Amino acid sequence: MACWTRRPGSSELQWTEPLITQLNARFAASTTQSDRPMATTERVTRFHVKHPDRNGTSASPSPVFDASTPLARELSDMNRRRQVLAETTLPLPSRTRIFTISNQKGGVGKTTTVVNLSAALARSGAHVLVIDLDPQGNASTALAVEHREGTPSVYDVIVNDVDMAEVVQRSPEFDGLFCAPATIDLAGAEIELVSMVAREQRLARALNEYLEDEGKDVDYVLIDCPPSLGLLTINAFVAASEVLIPIQCEYYALEGLSQLLKNIQLIEKHLNPTLTVSTILLTMFDSRTNLAHQVADEVREHFPKEVLDTIIPRSVRISEAPSYGQSVISYDVNSSGSLSYLEAAAEIARRGVPR
Ligand code: ADP
Ligand code: MG
Repeated sequence: MACWTRRPGSSELQWTEPLITQLNARFAASTTQSDRPMATTERVTRFHVKHPDRNGTSASPSPVFDASTPLARELSDMNRRRQVLAETTLPLPSRTRIFTISNQKGGVGKTTTVVNLSAALARSGAHVLVIDLDPQGNASTALAVEHREGTPSVYDVIVNDVDMAEVVQRSPEFDGLFCAPATIDLAGAEIELVSMVAREQRLARALNEYLEDEGKDVDYVLIDCPPSLGLLTINAFVAASEVLIPIQCEYYALEGLSQLLKNIQLIEKHLNPTLTVSTILLTMFDSRTNLAHQVADEVREHFPKEVLDTIIPRSVRISEAPSYGQSVISYDVNSSGSLSYLEAAAEIARRGVPR
């Protein structure tokens, strides 16, 4: 906009155009060869807006959807997976399958696997019970069940002989999804159990009583273990018939695995002859790194029968979901993390009990 300015070296005022207007006017004159001053918007658009040409098409080529790009391939692959899952109905087991999800390494995806597998199975119509055996209570948080100090919990079942039915809560996530929560009290249970009678069998007894109750038609029990090989984990091994080991596709993945397998063999020999490592799930897979591929190949080489074909990718959606008290299945069902857990659940259901 024009304004009054002081003429250089004098006190006189003069009516001047601001510099930008002057430049635009000069530019207009040089390009249009016309004395007609251009409207400001007209000038500005010369620099910034690509007008359609006479045929109505854009002056610059519009980006063409290229189906061969990695992103397009990924999108069409996810669409295909969604369709396959939508057409899938999962068989229910003829009797309750009890899994303990165990790996003494922390942060490998045990809790995440318990939460999302149980949600995926419940979504398919199964009746699922999650037993949170980790004093941190992360599975209880993710399944949005009450687990403040003082809430009837797994601690009361194991230490105080309370019936499992009295502590089990319905998760709002899906119909048919239940959780026996863990409170911080459970942190003391390892020590309290040491002096107790049948200290390794306490969870197994309580769970069997619960399952034998009429009307308790449970298809799957998933037990979330703490990251240690203490008495709580031993209780889980004794109560279960199958072990699911999540393995993170990272450098230290296989370290400690032989110790875990040795312990499972000891339990099988002395406390629970029916226990088998039926399932290994590769988690937090980052397909961009060679290391992740190498770890996955190595685990498959050692455990060709047990490793699921489905691999759980590293996914932001999976890590965000618990902060909303949700599984990734209800948080963002179409995300790649959700699809992977739905596929893993389908594989587990179809494979059935190992022979
Ligand atoms: P654990 O129970 O073995 O200690 P968690 O399931 O708690 O391990 O996972 C450890 C952390 O990694 C959590 O913050 C969780 O949200 C995150 N996490 C687990 N699986 C994935 C994944 N596939 N992608 C991204 N983050 C993940
Ligand atoms: Mg955990």
